[in-house]
Amino acid sequence: MTLSTPSTPTVAVLILIAVLGHVMAGFWYLAGRRRWTICSRTIYDLPVSPEQIRREFWNSLHAPSHAVWLSLFVLAGFFASTTWTSFVVSVLLTTAWAEIWHYASHRAMHWKSLHWIHKEHHKSHLNTYLTAVSFSFTEKLIFDGGLLGLLALVDLVAGLNVYGVAAWYVGYLLINSYSHANFEMKSPGYNKWVGQVITSTTYHSLHHSRYTGNYGLGTRVLDRLFKTEWEDYERLYARVSDEKRPLKKLSEKVPARS
Ligand SMILES: [Zn+2]
Ligand SMILES: [Zn+2]
Repeated sequence: MTLSTPSTPTVAVLILIAVLGHVMAGFWYLAGRRRWTICSRTIYDLPVSPEQIRREFWNSLHAPSHAVWLSLFVLAGFFASTTWTSFVVSVLLTTAWAEIWHYASHRAMHWKSLHWIHKEHHKSHLNTYLTAVSFSFTEKLIFDGGLLGLLALVDLVAGLNVYGVAAWYVGYLLINSYSHANFEMKSPGYNKWVGQVITSTTYHSLHHSRYTGNYGLGTRVLDRLFKTEWEDYERLYARVSDEKRPLKKLSEKVPARS
């Protein structure tokens, strides 16, 4: 088999998606430490142990592995289409498939028999600037393997574009970093419109603090369809974001007003 030689821009994009998770971790570290305005709405007002930060840091060392897997596909000649149409199709397909694959594999990893794969990410009940890059090697491999594997199959019949796939990774690394930031950045009232479909940091924080429910990656669609969304999510969001009253306990719920 002859290997394809990636162009300089392709190599640059692969390096970008390799380091972006850690760059964003650094950004949230600085933002939290210097109390930037974007950090004014804390979700859980609870301390983080230095042990958690150490553990997440060691887990993060293999976090750039998705760039390695994507590089191997590129070297093998996949995702070589260069048209604008293939770029747009690649972005849309990767976005849709990532949402479905993440939800399905995530729920499977909450089964007792498969939970060992996902356990490491869940040791963080309270999220920090490093939780977004703290996964077991196997969990990363399954997520990226399933994501890129199906895209590679599609590529065999309808050429896909590496920049389209990488663009999804850029978006994912940016969004996932603030989804684990323990600060709510979305506006008060967000759940009236866009928030009916798209998740928030509070949404994923609940998955960590309560260990189940709210499995979705970027949207609420599949959680609603399969009835796995926490019932008090919107009230809890309003408390954190509109009222600026952080939660004081991981188990805290927000009952409906009678
Ligand atoms: Zn989980
Ligand atoms: Zn998480």
